[in-house]
Amino acid sequence: MSFLKNDDPEVYALIESETHRLGETLDLIAAESLPPHSILEAQGSSFAIKAAEGYPGRRFHAGCVHGDTLESLAIDRAKRLFGAEHANVQPHSGVSANLAVYFSVLKPGDRVLAMKLSHGGHLSHGDRASMTSRCFEFRHYGVNPETERIDYEALETMALEFKPRMIVAGASSYPRLIDYERIADIARKIGAYLLVDMAHIAGLVAAGVIPSPVPHSDFVTFTTYKTLMGGRGGVILCKEEFAKKIDQSIFPGCQGTPALNMVAAKAVCFGRALKPEFVRLQRQIVDNAVAMARRLAGFGYRLVTGGTDNHLVLFEVTGKGLTGDVAEAVLEAVGIVVNRNVVPREGEDPLRPSGVRLGATAISARGMGEEEAGQIAGLIDTALANRDDSVVLKRVAESVSELCRRFPAKGF
Ligand SMILES: *Cc1c(COP(=O)(O)O)cnc(C)c1O
Repeated sequence: MSFLKNDDPEVYALIESETHRLGETLDLIAAESLPPHSILEAQGSSFAIKAAEGYPGRRFHAGCVHGDTLESLAIDRAKRLFGAEHANVQPHSGVSANLAVYFSVLKPGDRVLAMKLSHGGHLSHGDRASMTSRCFEFRHYGVNPETERIDYEALETMALEFKPRMIVAGASSYPRLIDYERIADIARKIGAYLLVDMAHIAGLVAAGVIPSPVPHSDFVTFTTYKTLMGGRGGVILCKEEFAKKIDQSIFPGCQGTPALNMVAAKAVCFGRALKPEFVRLQRQIVDNAVAMARRLAGFGYRLVTGGTDNHLVLFEVTGKGLTGDVAEAVLEAVGIVVNRNVVPREGEDPLRPSGVRLGATAISARGMGEEEAGQIAGLIDTALANRDDSVVLKRVAESVSELCRRFPAKGF
């Protein structure tokens, strides 16, 4: 980055510091990954320059010859990877993708049934703080308080009574598999559209490690930077009958020019995901999450749903006299980066929740296996149990540094 170093030493220094931080800490944020340098190169490439309103072969700017080929390549790879009839690779983010789906087939005021934020859903699924709740009439289903798994019977009862135009499935902090067929049956019964937002788990789905929602849904949205391990951005998959509506809803409906540099990164991401190494890595992510979950349960932490089937673990720290925000701070101080998270119970304060969410994507991308995942769970417990003992905390921080040195953050 010699040009940047010369032009703007201040920003250059921040980038250097951030790169150093990524290398020297263990990233257990379930919404992050460690993409390879090829993704970052594509994001920083000359495609960042091109204005290209429209779609391949139908642009509102000249000079799109290579942009057209690139976007078509990204679309073809996305369709092949997920077995989808149609793909739109232009959404700037997961939320943009969801907005475009809502506005493609719904009218303002239409009813939508989605998963509650505090039970694992996402802001853009009609939470009060999201403008989606002002455009549409949302109601929310949740998990069974005993099993903490989606209560499909309650979902069905609500659907029959509320008669939504669309049902949204998918979550940000749900550690179990979702029964898409069951939700698709309910949607069919009431003539509702089904949108599955698989942002967190798209990599696991791409690799076939967990079931795919694509055959059961009208629309599937996802982000490319979580388990899919690409750059930032969103994608919409849909049935052919909605292709035109979705494309119009993204441009000119919700967005202007696409970011072709991000489209280039998406093409690289899908290309990598089509390879056998990616499948092995995604399996390892689940194995590592399971290993962390088992160790934490062994130390007496209560796991939401009792375990995990995917890349994330949600556990309570209140049983150890802590809140999620305190645990997050204690762990960050020893180089373990996690996020506080609400657990499925009523009345939780999102700033001081009971839980912590862990994801195994970035550590797996660094080449760590179950042994290291178990070791990390041990370090988490040691740090939390000795949060006032600076000697022990220093020892944990040294173990974190040692792990980081053994498994450099060079991307998978
Ligand atoms: C992360 C996430 C998104 C948000 O994507 P952005 O890129 O932040 O807009 C949407 N839906 C779900 C379920 C997510 O987990």
